[in-house]
Amino acid sequence: MPEQPGKNAIEVRGVRKVFGTGENQVAALDTVSVSIRENEFFTLLGPSGCGKTTLLRLIAGFDFPSAGEILLHGQDIAPLPPFKRPVNTVFQSYALFPHMTVAQNIGFGLEMLGQPKAEIEARVAQMLKLVKMEALRARRTSQISGGQQQRVALARALAPQPKVLLLDEPLSALDYKLRKEMQIELKRLQHETGITFIFVTHDQEEALTMSDRIAVMSAGKILQVGAPRDIYDRPAERFVADFIGETNFLAGTVVSKKPGVATVKFASNATITAGYPEGFEPSGDVTLVVRPEHADMVPDPAKGTITGTLSNIVYFGTDTHYHVKLDGGENFIVRHQNSRSSPVTYETGAKVGIQFEEDAARVLKD
Ligand code: ATP
Repeated sequence: MPEQPGKNAIEVRGVRKVFGTGENQVAALDTVSVSIRENEFFTLLGPSGCGKTTLLRLIAGFDFPSAGEILLHGQDIAPLPPFKRPVNTVFQSYALFPHMTVAQNIGFGLEMLGQPKAEIEARVAQMLKLVKMEALRARRTSQISGGQQQRVALARALAPQPKVLLLDEPLSALDYKLRKEMQIELKRLQHETGITFIFVTHDQEEALTMSDRIAVMSAGKILQVGAPRDIYDRPAERFVADFIGETNFLAGTVVSKKPGVATVKFASNATITAGYPEGFEPSGDVTLVVRPEHADMVPDPAKGTITGTLSNIVYFGTDTHYHVKLDGGENFIVRHQNSRSSPVTYETGAKVGIQFEEDAARVLKD
């Protein structure tokens, strides 16, 4: 279970990875520490170049840390070459052998390990069933679709029963519909095999829907680790709030503080009391973040915590986005879910109030 601390499959301790020398030096990983539990679907999420692939490559053993250590089930894996680590990788490109059949591709790693023929056959049959590719077992992988190739790549990586499976943007080559199907399929495979999955993506929606826990990365650092809900509802930093989902940012100044909550004043002189992350002591200039769906709009401005004028209404079918120019000059978006019996209709130019619960807003570093 994601929220119960389990045993650690992987522990990354103070790992740095520096590429290049002198002026061209890049810290691809800048002292990263994280523990990944057994049987967990763990995602590394972040923009291009933040160090996700570098971290996977260090765990796989394709490269070595400049400093720090990586433990697998408590053992330092530095002395182990890649093929001796109980870790396997699924690459973005799949890296299948096109001249071999589906079954031969799946059995390839087992043959390299010198396993007996009968055992390989049994394991390949089991894997074909797991990824629902039995009917195409004799087909060359150059003659199957992208989604089918993805399944074969997964089966091949799972066949030697690794303790940890590393997946480097494995769905990025698939079209939208297939990607959605494979997301469900991957979750099922992880659940059925009980193998720890470390999944890399820059797609925040993919990370939120698939993961037990997510590590959000930026510029070689891990900024926050948590369950999808934690990360979404309680971002620890502005970057996290901005990278995941849509967020309103309001600049303000702290006027008072109690343990866990701070009262912040805004340009329009409105004040809002909201929580803040552990380890952050709000003072001076801060940013308040509020998700558009956690705010509510009311037709009577007097009933709003903050007030403004409706500047634009954008209809999205399932919901509507209301763009409000606040009296302090900031822009703010409120998202309402549409229902057949929406009680209020708004018009642009109307004065409105915006309300939100104390726990919907969050005070972060400016
Ligand atoms: P993407 O999503 O684009 O794959 P990423 O988050 O996986 O990005 P990495 O590939 O880990 O990022 O790269 C992190 C940083 O390290 C980048 O600045 C990259 O240019 C640099 N880097 C990665 N590999 C090397 C290398 N072999 N030599 C020099 N610099 C490298």
